[in-house]
Amino acid sequence: MNKGKLFVVSAPSGCGKGTILLEVLNNNKNLFYSVSATTRTPREGEIDGVNYYFLSKDEFKREIDNGGMLEYAQYCDNFYGTPKKKVFEKLEQGIDVILEIETKGAMQVKGVMPEAVLIFILPPSVLELRRRLNKRGTEEESVIEKRVKEAEDEIRRAFNYDYIIMNDELDKAIEDFEAVLKASKLTKENNKNMIEEVLKNA
Ligand code: 5GP
Repeated sequence: MNKGKLFVVSAPSGCGKGTILLEVLNNNKNLFYSVSATTRTPREGEIDGVNYYFLSKDEFKREIDNGGMLEYAQYCDNFYGTPKKKVFEKLEQGIDVILEIETKGAMQVKGVMPEAVLIFILPPSVLELRRRLNKRGTEEESVIEKRVKEAEDEIRRAFNYDYIIMNDELDKAIEDFEAVLKASKLTKENNKNMIEEVLKNA
């Protein structure tokens, strides 16, 4: 049996990444979405263990010290990280895993797992991104400014990703995302045993 594939998805906040992923996960029941840990306070409606594991700074640091994080990063004054255990369990079981993380964490993952597939979702423009963040209305003005600045830095790191998806039209972005998932499963690295099997029966 093949191991599962690790997909890492990054996008500046306000890019519509959540909407795309929701649809993709709905259409692909065999994908496991890794729930991250964070020290930020929950937004209205967010549930512990579903959206994030909400930890105190001390709890988060303890997890790092115990070697429990696959990667972690500081983003806009808060810590975010991927708990390692479940991710490796699923991959071992042949289940594909999706991490939805920012760019510094994604670079760490690529460093330790070069076979991971990195996908970056681009907004049509930084202006449009600011408009979407304002419309969402979940953050104060100063926080929005911080996130726009962070977004610019993140977009510069998109050059290090394997695939780029432009989210100017939702349906097309979802279609493109699913095309990447499919193509990544069809690489020769993923299917060496299939080639060998065919040759064995020749
Ligand atoms: P938000 O506060 O809007 O939920 O997330 C802020 C940023 O943190 C987003 O870019 C999100 O992808 C990123 N993020 C969420 N979980 C993780 C994680 O486990 N690790 C890292 N490095 N970033 C994360």
